[in-house]
Amino acid sequence: MSIVRARLKPYSLPLRDPWPSQDGDVTERKGWIVALEDDQGRTGLGDAAPFPGFGLETHPSAGAGLKLALKRIVGLRRDGYAGAIADLTVLAPIAATATARAAIDCALHDLIAQGAGLPLARYLGGSETLRLVPVNGTIPRVAPARVAELGARAVAAGIDTLKIKVGGASIQEDQERLRALRGAVGPAVKIRVDANEAWNPDRAIESLRAMAGFDLEYAEQPVAAEDLEGMARVRKESGVRIAADESVRDIKSAEMIHYRSAADILIVKPMALGGLRAARSVQNVASDGGLAIVVTTLLESAVGRAAALHFAASLGETPYAHGVATGGALERDLADAPVPVRGRMAVPLLPGLGVTLPDAFWSDAYTLEEE
Ligand SMILES: [Mg+2]
Repeated sequence: MSIVRARLKPYSLPLRDPWPSQDGDVTERKGWIVALEDDQGRTGLGDAAPFPGFGLETHPSAGAGLKLALKRIVGLRRDGYAGAIADLTVLAPIAATATARAAIDCALHDLIAQGAGLPLARYLGGSETLRLVPVNGTIPRVAPARVAELGARAVAAGIDTLKIKVGGASIQEDQERLRALRGAVGPAVKIRVDANEAWNPDRAIESLRAMAGFDLEYAEQPVAAEDLEGMARVRKESGVRIAADESVRDIKSAEMIHYRSAADILIVKPMALGGLRAARSVQNVASDGGLAIVVTTLLESAVGRAAALHFAASLGETPYAHGVATGGALERDLADAPVPVRGRMAVPLLPGLGVTLPDAFWSDAYTLEEE
């Protein structure tokens, strides 16, 4: 068994609402889909969608790296798949581009799980694996009345955990939004906030103390990604559990967060970390350190989100809902994808990733065949 063909195709999907990033508002998600085909007729899929401001890679750099890297993947035999996944961090063209590594890592995992006849989650997680993954809803930074409306709608649909974006506004404005949300959803719904690095430590402590009355589940990335000292202080003085997101860049940064006691929770984005193997390594750091894990996406297409969903399911029961229900942020998608039902997302039961793209998607794709 070996890989006989690789295909690579760019995509661009408009977002329903602009998404704040370190580089300004993002209005579309651009990425690359990788398909690896073996001589048994199986296709493994992977997604590379760099997020502006999240790492240094760009859509063109990820694509250029993938084109070169795929030359090393075509012709690979089955007994080399695991080694190839482990070696992606030293594969020169994509060593520095996490999302490109994630695409190949995911496509190889898809093929391996298909070969084993198991859904990817089950292949990764064994008997612990969840069939239904609890997920949170996300409320963008909109006016309080709209916050209340979106919150009430999510809760009516069975969502019991909501995340709302804060920071980038006055403390009073954030409080008004939280008051509207808490008022609309009642005391039982969990509310987490995400500041996306918006505050300095003093401001974070002041803001989070001012939000104490709203019973926050946790606060995500209150301060700059590299300010672990500041984050540790916020964790100690704000009275709110802290989740590290942008700070979690690789295994080493995850270890530093643990050593500095900078967070209670690690946010794991398999795509941003370089794939499922890297996500598993960060998970190991978290469980060694007694930190919880919440799996989220980079707002990528149905292909990358499926990988995040399988990974979340493979963790079994965890204390927090996962942020993998982000398909609604896209105006359209590349393939059918699971949607949350009563606050849970069903993991596809087909072997592998369980995602199929229409044939038409592949017209004009860059194609590489075994010589
Ligand atoms: Mg976040």
